[in-house]
Amino acid sequence: MFGGIEAGGTNFVCGVGTGPHDLIRDEFPTGSPKETLERAADFFFKHRIRSLGVGCFGPIDIAGGRITTTPKVAWQQYPIIEELRRMTGVERIKFDTDVNAAALGEGRWGAGFGLADFIYLTVGTGIGGGAMVNGRLLHGKSHPEMGHIPMRRDVLRDPFPGACYAHGDCLEGLASGFAIEKRWGKRGSQLPAGHEAWTLEAEYLAQALAAFTYTLAPLRIIVGGGVMHSMSYATLSEQLRRLLNGYVEAPEVVAPALGEDAGVLGAIALAMSIGTAPPE
Ligand code: ZN
Repeated sequence: MFGGIEAGGTNFVCGVGTGPHDLIRDEFPTGSPKETLERAADFFFKHRIRSLGVGCFGPIDIAGGRITTTPKVAWQQYPIIEELRRMTGVERIKFDTDVNAAALGEGRWGAGFGLADFIYLTVGTGIGGGAMVNGRLLHGKSHPEMGHIPMRRDVLRDPFPGACYAHGDCLEGLASGFAIEKRWGKRGSQLPAGHEAWTLEAEYLAQALAAFTYTLAPLRIIVGGGVMHSMSYATLSEQLRRLLNGYVEAPEVVAPALGEDAGVLGAIALAMSIGTAPPE
Protein backbone atom coordinates (compact mmCIF):
# COMPACT_ATOMS: atom_id res chain seq x y z
CA MET A 1 0.00 0.00 0.00
CA PHE A 2 1.23 3.49 -0.90
CA GLY A 3 0.76 6.58 1.23
CA GLY A 4 0.67 10.23 0.27
CA ILE A 5 0.53 13.55 2.08
CA GLU A 6 -0.53 16.79 0.50
CA ALA A 7 1.05 19.08 3.07
CA GLY A 8 -0.66 22.42 2.59
CA GLY A 9 -0.28 25.60 4.59
CA THR A 10 -3.98 25.44 5.55
CA ASN A 11 -4.81 21.72 5.45
CA PHE A 12 -3.02 18.40 5.43
CA VAL A 13 -4.57 15.69 3.25
CA CYS A 14 -3.35 12.15 3.93
CA GLY A 15 -4.24 9.28 1.63
CA VAL A 16 -3.52 5.63 1.03
CA GLY A 17 -4.26 3.69 -2.11
CA THR A 18 -3.17 3.03 -5.64
CA GLY A 19 -5.12 5.59 -7.70
CA PRO A 20 -8.29 7.67 -8.08
CA HIS A 21 -10.59 4.64 -7.68
CA ASP A 22 -8.71 3.22 -4.72
CA LEU A 23 -8.17 6.07 -2.29
CA ILE A 24 -8.84 6.43 1.43
CA ARG A 25 -8.26 9.97 2.62
CA ASP A 26 -8.23 12.02 5.80
CA GLU A 27 -8.06 15.82 5.88
CA PHE A 28 -7.36 18.08 8.84
CA PRO A 29 -6.13 21.63 9.49
CA THR A 30 -2.40 22.33 9.54
CA GLY A 31 -1.46 23.07 13.15
CA SER A 32 1.90 22.92 14.87
CA PRO A 33 4.40 20.56 13.21
CA LYS A 34 4.30 18.06 16.09
CA GLU A 35 0.51 17.72 16.39
CA THR A 36 0.01 17.72 12.62
CA LEU A 37 2.58 15.01 11.91
CA GLU A 38 1.36 12.90 14.85
CA ARG A 39 -2.12 12.91 13.36
CA ALA A 40 -0.69 11.95 9.96
CA ALA A 41 1.39 9.18 11.54
CA ASP A 42 -1.73 7.79 13.31
CA PHE A 43 -3.52 7.60 9.97
CA PHE A 44 -0.68 5.73 8.26
CA PHE A 45 -0.22 3.30 11.17
CA LYS A 46 -3.74 2.02 10.51
CA HIS A 47 -2.97 1.28 6.86
CA ARG A 48 0.50 -0.31 7.01
CA ILE A 49 2.05 1.55 4.07
CA ARG A 50 5.42 0.57 2.58
CA SER A 51 6.34 3.93 1.05
CA LEU A 52 5.22 7.51 1.36
CA GLY A 53 5.19 10.54 -0.93
CA VAL A 54 5.02 14.06 0.45
CA GLY A 55 3.94 17.01 -1.70
CA CYS A 56 4.60 20.05 0.42
CA PHE A 57 3.97 23.80 0.45
CA GLY A 58 7.22 25.62 -0.12
CA PRO A 59 9.78 26.75 -0.65
CA ILE A 60 11.39 23.46 0.36
CA ASP A 61 14.85 21.91 0.34
CA ILE A 62 14.13 18.68 -1.51
CA ALA A 63 17.50 17.01 -0.90
CA GLY A 64 17.58 18.11 2.74
CA GLY A 65 13.95 17.06 3.41
CA ARG A 66 12.97 20.34 4.99
CA ILE A 67 10.68 23.33 4.55
CA THR A 68 12.76 26.51 4.29
CA THR A 69 11.54 30.13 4.34
CA THR A 70 7.78 29.86 4.89
CA PRO A 71 6.03 32.71 6.71
CA LYS A 72 4.56 29.99 8.97
CA VAL A 73 7.15 30.45 11.71
CA ALA A 74 6.79 27.06 13.43
CA TRP A 75 7.50 25.29 10.11
CA GLN A 76 10.56 27.35 9.13
CA GLN A 77 13.57 25.08 8.51
CA TYR A 78 11.50 22.16 9.83
CA PRO A 79 13.01 18.73 8.97
CA ILE A 80 9.64 17.26 7.96
CA ILE A 81 11.00 14.13 6.25
CA GLU A 82 13.31 13.09 9.09
CA GLU A 83 10.44 13.61 11.56
CA LEU A 84 8.02 11.60 9.40
CA ARG A 85 10.53 8.73 9.18
CA ARG A 86 10.84 8.74 12.95
CA MET A 87 7.10 8.96 13.64
CA THR A 88 5.84 6.50 11.00
CA GLY A 89 8.75 4.06 10.86
CA VAL A 90 8.53 4.29 7.05
CA GLU A 91 12.01 4.61 5.52
CA ARG A 92 11.04 5.02 1.86
CA ILE A 93 9.79 8.61 1.65
CA LYS A 94 9.91 10.87 -1.40
CA PHE A 95 9.64 14.63 -1.02
CA ASP A 96 8.66 17.30 -3.55
CA THR A 97 6.57 20.45 -3.85
CA ASP A 98 2.78 20.19 -3.67
CA VAL A 99 2.51 21.37 -7.28
CA ASN A 100 5.18 19.03 -8.63
CA ALA A 101 3.31 16.18 -6.91
CA ALA A 102 0.00 17.35 -8.40
CA ALA A 103 1.63 17.50 -11.85
CA LEU A 104 2.84 13.92 -11.41
CA GLY A 105 -0.67 12.78 -10.37
CA GLU A 106 -2.35 14.56 -13.29
CA GLY A 107 0.21 13.00 -15.62
CA ARG A 108 -0.41 9.51 -14.28
CA TRP A 109 -4.21 9.57 -14.04
CA GLY A 110 -5.58 12.96 -15.11
CA ALA A 111 -5.44 15.85 -17.54
CA GLY A 112 -1.73 15.34 -18.32
CA PHE A 113 -2.12 11.65 -19.15
CA GLY A 114 0.08 10.59 -22.07
CA LEU A 115 1.84 13.97 -22.33
CA ALA A 116 5.61 14.36 -21.90
CA ASP A 117 5.43 18.16 -21.61
CA PHE A 118 2.82 19.97 -19.58
CA ILE A 119 2.47 22.37 -16.67
CA TYR A 120 0.27 22.19 -13.58
CA LEU A 121 -0.51 25.55 -12.05
CA THR A 122 -2.59 26.16 -8.94
CA VAL A 123 -4.23 29.52 -8.30
CA GLY A 124 -5.50 29.49 -4.74
CA THR A 125 -4.47 31.36 -1.60
CA GLY A 126 -1.02 31.29 -3.21
CA ILE A 127 0.14 30.45 -6.73
CA GLY A 128 2.55 27.68 -7.65
CA GLY A 129 3.43 25.52 -10.61
CA GLY A 130 5.05 22.22 -11.44
CA ALA A 131 6.35 21.26 -14.85
CA MET A 132 6.69 17.94 -16.65
CA VAL A 133 9.48 18.35 -19.21
CA ASN A 134 10.52 15.49 -21.49
CA GLY A 135 8.52 13.14 -19.26
CA ARG A 136 10.23 14.16 -16.02
CA LEU A 137 9.35 16.63 -13.31
CA LEU A 138 11.51 19.71 -13.67
CA HIS A 139 13.98 20.25 -10.84
CA GLY A 140 16.88 22.63 -10.87
CA LYS A 141 18.90 23.93 -7.99
CA SER A 142 15.78 23.33 -5.89
CA HIS A 143 12.41 23.55 -7.67
CA PRO A 144 10.59 26.05 -9.88
CA GLU A 145 8.71 28.92 -8.21
CA MET A 146 6.33 29.83 -11.01
CA GLY A 147 4.11 31.91 -8.74
CA HIS A 148 6.78 34.53 -8.20
CA ILE A 149 7.67 35.64 -11.71
CA PRO A 150 7.74 39.42 -12.29
CA MET A 151 4.67 40.93 -13.93
CA ARG A 152 3.81 43.92 -16.06
CA ARG A 153 1.32 46.11 -14.16
CA ASP A 154 -0.39 49.31 -15.37
CA VAL A 155 -0.18 51.35 -12.14
CA LEU A 156 -2.93 53.76 -13.24
CA ARG A 157 -5.39 50.98 -13.91
CA ASP A 158 -4.29 48.79 -11.00
CA PRO A 159 -2.71 50.90 -8.25
CA PHE A 160 -2.74 47.90 -5.84
CA PRO A 161 0.97 47.40 -4.99
CA GLY A 162 0.71 43.62 -4.67
CA ALA A 163 0.45 41.27 -1.71
CA CYS A 164 3.58 39.10 -1.90
CA TYR A 165 5.63 39.60 1.27
CA ALA A 166 8.82 39.05 -0.68
CA HIS A 167 8.18 40.79 -4.05
CA GLY A 168 5.03 42.91 -3.87
CA ASP A 169 3.57 42.71 -7.38
CA CYS A 170 4.82 39.34 -8.61
CA LEU A 171 2.23 36.91 -10.07
CA GLU A 172 1.18 35.64 -6.63
CA GLY A 173 1.18 39.19 -5.29
CA LEU A 174 -1.29 40.28 -7.98
CA ALA A 175 -3.42 37.27 -8.83
CA SER A 176 -3.62 34.87 -5.85
CA GLY A 177 -6.78 34.50 -3.80
CA PHE A 178 -4.98 36.35 -1.02
CA ALA A 179 -4.21 39.24 -3.41
CA ILE A 180 -7.82 39.40 -4.62
CA GLU A 181 -9.05 39.66 -1.05
CA LYS A 182 -6.47 42.36 -0.20
CA ARG A 183 -7.22 44.40 -3.33
CA TRP A 184 -11.02 44.30 -3.23
CA GLY A 185 -11.69 43.75 0.48
CA LYS A 186 -13.74 40.66 -0.39
CA ARG A 187 -12.97 37.05 -1.11
CA GLY A 188 -13.07 36.03 -4.77
CA SER A 189 -16.09 33.81 -4.09
CA GLN A 190 -18.02 36.94 -3.02
CA LEU A 191 -17.25 38.95 -6.18
CA PRO A 192 -19.88 38.70 -8.97
CA ALA A 193 -19.05 37.29 -12.41
CA GLY A 194 -18.95 40.65 -14.24
CA HIS A 195 -16.66 42.32 -11.68
CA GLU A 196 -13.49 44.11 -12.86
CA ALA A 197 -11.55 41.72 -10.61
CA TRP A 198 -12.06 38.89 -13.10
CA THR A 199 -10.92 40.93 -16.12
CA LEU A 200 -7.68 41.81 -14.30
CA GLU A 201 -7.31 38.24 -13.07
CA ALA A 202 -7.56 36.78 -16.59
CA GLU A 203 -5.04 39.34 -17.89
CA TYR A 204 -2.48 38.62 -15.16
CA LEU A 205 -2.85 34.84 -15.43
CA ALA A 206 -2.55 35.07 -19.21
CA GLN A 207 0.70 37.06 -18.85
CA ALA A 208 2.08 34.27 -16.69
CA LEU A 209 0.86 31.50 -19.01
CA ALA A 210 2.49 33.32 -21.93
CA ALA A 211 5.82 33.44 -20.05
CA PHE A 212 5.57 29.72 -19.23
CA THR A 213 4.60 28.93 -22.84
CA TYR A 214 7.65 30.75 -24.21
CA THR A 215 9.98 29.22 -21.62
CA LEU A 216 8.88 25.58 -21.49
CA ALA A 217 6.75 25.04 -24.62
CA PRO A 218 4.11 22.91 -22.86
CA LEU A 219 1.47 21.03 -24.86
CA ARG A 220 -1.11 21.74 -22.17
CA ILE A 221 -1.40 23.91 -19.08
CA ILE A 222 -3.59 22.51 -16.31
CA VAL A 223 -4.85 25.29 -14.06
CA GLY A 224 -6.47 24.40 -10.74
CA GLY A 225 -7.01 25.98 -7.33
CA GLY A 226 -9.92 27.69 -5.62
CA VAL A 227 -9.75 30.96 -7.59
CA MET A 228 -10.39 29.04 -10.82
CA HIS A 229 -13.87 28.08 -9.59
CA SER A 230 -14.85 31.69 -10.39
CA MET A 231 -12.92 31.98 -13.66
CA SER A 232 -13.79 31.10 -17.24
CA TYR A 233 -11.24 28.82 -18.91
CA ALA A 234 -12.44 30.08 -22.30
CA THR A 235 -11.67 33.70 -21.33
CA LEU A 236 -8.26 32.72 -19.99
CA SER A 237 -7.43 30.81 -23.21
CA GLU A 238 -8.60 33.74 -25.30
CA GLN A 239 -6.43 36.20 -23.33
CA LEU A 240 -3.45 33.88 -23.71
CA ARG A 241 -3.94 33.67 -27.49
CA ARG A 242 -4.29 37.45 -27.66
CA LEU A 243 -0.96 37.94 -25.84
CA LEU A 244 0.91 35.34 -27.88
CA ASN A 245 -0.44 37.15 -30.95
CA GLY A 246 0.20 34.25 -33.30
CA TYR A 247 3.94 34.16 -32.57
CA VAL A 248 3.63 30.59 -31.29
CA GLU A 249 0.58 28.36 -31.02
CA ALA A 250 -1.16 28.57 -27.63
CA PRO A 251 -1.18 25.41 -25.50
CA GLU A 252 -4.53 24.10 -24.30
CA VAL A 253 -5.65 25.52 -20.94
CA VAL A 254 -7.70 22.98 -18.99
CA ALA A 255 -8.99 22.18 -15.49
CA PRO A 256 -7.39 19.37 -13.45
CA ALA A 257 -9.12 16.03 -14.02
CA LEU A 258 -8.43 14.84 -10.47
CA GLY A 259 -10.11 17.89 -8.92
CA GLU A 260 -9.47 18.37 -5.22
CA ASP A 261 -7.62 15.03 -5.04
CA ALA A 262 -4.81 16.07 -7.44
CA GLY A 263 -2.45 16.88 -4.57
CA VAL A 264 -2.90 13.76 -2.46
CA LEU A 265 -3.00 11.45 -5.50
CA GLY A 266 0.15 13.16 -6.75
CA ALA A 267 1.81 12.43 -3.42
CA ILE A 268 0.79 8.76 -3.82
CA ALA A 269 2.26 8.85 -7.35
CA LEU A 270 5.49 10.14 -5.78
CA ALA A 271 5.49 7.16 -3.42
CA MET A 272 4.87 4.79 -6.34
CA SER A 273 7.82 6.31 -8.22
CA ILE A 274 10.35 5.38 -5.52
CA GLY A 275 12.90 3.01 -6.91
CA THR A 276 11.52 3.10 -10.45
CA ALA A 277 12.67 4.75 -13.66
CA PRO A 278 11.49 8.32 -14.45
CA PRO A 279 9.20 10.17 -13.94
CA GLU A 280 10.54 10.72 -10.45
ZN1 ZN B 1 6.42 36.83 -4.87
